[in-house]
This record gives sequence, C-alpha cells and structure tokens, in this order.
Amino acid sequence: MKRTHTCGSLTAADDGKTVILNGWVHRNRDHGGIHFINLRDRYGITQIVVGPDAEPELEKIAGSLKFEYCVAIEGLVHKRPDEMINKDMATGEIEIEAKTISILSTCKVLPFMIDEKADARDDIRIKYRFLDLRTESMQKKIRLRHKAAFAVREFFEGEDFYEIETPTLIKSTPEGARDFLVPARLNPGKFFALPQSPQLFKQILMVSGFDKYFQVARCYRDEDARGDRQLEFTQVDVEMSFVSRDDVLAMTERMMTHLFKKTMDVDLITPFPRLSYKEAMDRFGSDKPEQRFAMELQDFAPLVPGCDFKVFKDVLASGGSVKVLVAENCSSYSRKMITELEDVAKTYGAKGLAWMKVTADGVDGGVGKFFTNQADNIKEKLGAKEGDLLLFVADKYETACKALGAVRLRLGQDLKLIDKSIFHFSWVLDFPLFEYNEEEEKWDPAHHMFSMPQERFIDTMEENPGEVIGDLYDLVCNGYELGSGSIRVHDPEIQKRIFKIVGFSEEEAQERFGFLLDSFEYGAPPHGGIATGFDRTIMIMAGEDSIREVIPFPKNTQGASPMEDSPAFVDEQQLIDLHLKTIPVEKKKENK
Ligand code: ASP
Repeated sequence: MKRTHTCGSLTAADDGKTVILNGWVHRNRDHGGIHFINLRDRYGITQIVVGPDAEPELEKIAGSLKFEYCVAIEGLVHKRPDEMINKDMATGEIEIEAKTISILSTCKVLPFMIDEKADARDDIRIKYRFLDLRTESMQKKIRLRHKAAFAVREFFEGEDFYEIETPTLIKSTPEGARDFLVPARLNPGKFFALPQSPQLFKQILMVSGFDKYFQVARCYRDEDARGDRQLEFTQVDVEMSFVSRDDVLAMTERMMTHLFKKTMDVDLITPFPRLSYKEAMDRFGSDKPEQRFAMELQDFAPLVPGCDFKVFKDVLASGGSVKVLVAENCSSYSRKMITELEDVAKTYGAKGLAWMKVTADGVDGGVGKFFTNQADNIKEKLGAKEGDLLLFVADKYETACKALGAVRLRLGQDLKLIDKSIFHFSWVLDFPLFEYNEEEEKWDPAHHMFSMPQERFIDTMEENPGEVIGDLYDLVCNGYELGSGSIRVHDPEIQKRIFKIVGFSEEEAQERFGFLLDSFEYGAPPHGGIATGFDRTIMIMAGEDSIREVIPFPKNTQGASPMEDSPAFVDEQQLIDLHLKTIPVEKKKENK
C-alpha cells in the first residue's frame, strides 16, 4: 500500500477521494466504539476514523494500534461538518474513513512520548535519538537547519564564491584546542589530525587564486566537556582575497541578512553596530556582549577618591578597576539574593560583590556607610535613583569587568529584561593580537597566529606585544560569539616575527606549517576571512540555548554518544594493525 498523499496534504478539496497514507500512529483514541487515529509523518497529522459500521476485522486492527506503529491506511476522504473543523490542524477540514489498515511494523513501549520531549532526560533523548527526532520540535529544527544550509549556499553562489572541500585527514591546525588524532596505518607511528578548522587550507586556496571560497565545514576539537560545546561542529567557513576588514564584515552582514530573510522572514538591520573589544568590556563586561537590554557597567574609579573605602582605594592604587552596575528598582533584593549574585561574580574570579542601596536620603546597607558623604554625587554621576541597588566589583580590570558582566547577565535574565523576539547582531573589533599565558609565562595568539596586526603596530610589535591590536573581528548575536575572523598575514617576514613572539622557533614553524609559509613565497595575495558557527546560528534562530538541540546526532555532556555507544573499545587486532598499544587509565595517571 504505497501512499498517494502525505499526512499533511489533504484538504476539503479532496472530499470524496480514495487515498492511501503511510505514517506513524501518533494517537489512537477509542470513543465508545469509534476509533480516532492520528496518523503522522514528516508533513503533518491526519485524522483517521474507524466507525461503528466498520468490518469486525478492521475494527480489530484499529483497536490493536499502539503508539508509533508504522502503518498504511486506505480510506475515503470526508469533508468535516463545519462545527467539527479543527483550525489547529493543517488537515483539520477533513478526516479519512478507513477501509483497510495494514501494519507495516509494530513499536515497543516508548521510553518517552513523542510529543512530550521536555519530560525526557537529555541522555535518554540522545540514546533514543531516532525517536526524539520524530518529535515535532526536532523535525522543525532539522528542517530549519536544512533550509539554512541551503540559503547559505544560495547566498554564496549568488556572490560568485566557490564551495571547495578541504581534507579532514590533515596535519594539525593551530586553533588552540587539542587535536583529534587518527593513526595512519600505512605510515606506522604517524598520525593525521582532524581539522579544528580549514584555516590553513583556505589560506592556501587564496594563494591558488580562488579568490572567494566558502565551505559548510565540519570541524573537530578535542575539548573537555564544557557547557554546550560539541567535539564536532559545523562552521560556515569563508576566505576572500584582495579585501579589507570592512569587505569581510559587509559580506557577512549580507549573508546573515539573506539567511534570516530566507529561512525565517526576519529582516536584520544592517550595518550591524560595531564596538571595540575595550568598549565591549567596559560597557558589558564581555567580549560577546548581550545587548538586548541596557544596564551597562560604569566606571566607579572617579568617585573613589572622595570616599573612605580603603578596599576600593587599594585596588585602584595597585592598578585595578572598580566597576559598578546600577540595578534599577532592585533595592528590595534580600541578602540571600545578593549572595546569589555574589556567587556568580565569584565564579568569574571576583573576591566579592560590594553593594549598597539608594534611598530617599542617600545610600544605605552593604558598603553604603563609607559613601554617605558622596551620596548625591554618586546618584548624579551614575544616574541612580531611590530604589536602585548598586553592585560593585573591584579587581584587576579584566576580572572586574567579566565578573560584573556576568552579574549583569544574571540580573537581565532574572528581571526578564531580555526581549527574546530580537536578534541583536553586532561586531566586536580591535582585539589584542596576543594574550599573556600566565601559566607558561609566554605570549599566545589571541585568535590564531595567522592574523595581521593593525598597520600602526607592525613595525614595533615586539616591543610590547600586549598592546598590539590585531585586525580581528567577532560577530556577536544575543550574547553569543557567532563567528570570528581576521585579515591574515601574507608576508612571510611578518609571519616569522609573529611565530617568534608566540615562542615558535623557525624549525618548529617550518615543521608544522612549512607548507603554508612555503606557499607564501609564491605570490600570496592579501586575504582575510571569517568562520561563523552554523550550529550556534541555528540554535539562536530556533530560540534554543544548547547546540545539542539543533545537531541531529549530538554527543552528550560527557562527549559520548549513548545511541551507538561511542567512543568504544576496539579489537586487539585493530590496534595491532595500527601499530598501537593502549595504556590502562590508572597507569597513565602514575606516569604523569
Ligand atoms: N579558523 C578560524 C576559527 O575557526 C576562523 C577564521 O579565522 O576564519 O575560529
């Protein structure tokens, strides 16, 4: 019984037709001898009726249908009487009087109901992903993902880019995470790495003259299970020749605009606002600022000298910062609520969260007593008024900003200040090119080591690497970093100097990326690019807060897939073939 229609296609216009539908039993209700079966497929749900006059055999089969049986049903389409029309269903104008039902396959007792996904634990959903993917919400998200990938390709085709595949068995890419290694059986003792991104290859493609490249590329980073990171993820990877930063930003804005319009009919406003890294930290305490609500951080340093609070004075004297947040109308916050906010600040390295309340007469509570003579000044300078709560972090600049930024975000969520219907895009620019690695006492590239310093720093970058600003940019949306990129170094001499600053010897650089450096000796064009996270983009579009929700087959928080039970041990022989020996976990610890 091959289907003539899908479960989402029949309307009143089909009244009187004999049709065959294939699908899954979504519901089967028995109303005193009448069976109402909701049959579901990818396209929708259609109501099937087995009435009191049905043949006993048909009635018996109808009664035996359980959730998620896969069936074929032949029947007659009836337009429903007006009062029976179900406006919530696309097929709500009709129902089908079943004539034959054939069970294509039965289904065991379900681990969770197909339309009640919220009740099932994450791990159960991942273990039974084949069932979870049947839910309406997952079907919608997978459809969105497909449409989005198509829109992306359509955009790039329209702008004359080529999609070029780059290899997934490569020599390690320097994106700063750990590589996944693949033993090379044909070259005993040697390994491929899976790409952390196509970075080096897309740069080589520029040297090869392809000019405008993109790829919906799978990337792999062996990172510890953290938040909603995934070991493998998808990037929309782009590289362009003969461009400046603004060309790359404008192209990305056009791409996002096309994507949101095509898949969601949302008009993004361009150009996206731009902030420098410093401004983002100063105002929002984050390099991926959530800008769907205001409540910006302010600098309290100018107000410190006039007060008696030693803690703040000492922090400033040692070169630190005092940042303050005016939480409007929050003076009713209890000690307990403030302690919870303090815990948030502490997870970002702050030693504490100082506070005071603004009252009709001045300031009160917390550290307020040190500021009574400054109350009017504080109110005026910070724009605070009676009923507000002031929250402070005094620490090293970065810690003060980040910790109070995290408190700001928490308040924004708690006070429901975030308008969830908005997609707020912005650019964060002018990042430092290098960041100091306290543990190893050396400079690391802040993004990756192929990014160009801004022109004015080129001649003197060795003098104070910490002050060098790179031609780097991040795309931010709703508090998420959605992409990052840079204008690249294409001059082998500058590249060598950067390697030196980050502690790469010439031999080491040659050994790891010799092929890129060599290619630069053969007429490398100036180039730059960006990669935007495809999973994250879909996550934001779908209004989800985990990329697991939009990846068809994700790993769980332990970096494993309970569905196919991976990773898994392999046969001894497989290891022998690969010239590998595994070390038991205990032994590995001893060797450390
Ligand atoms: N390869 C970089 C990344 O994956 C993006 C870029 O610079 O194009 O973050």
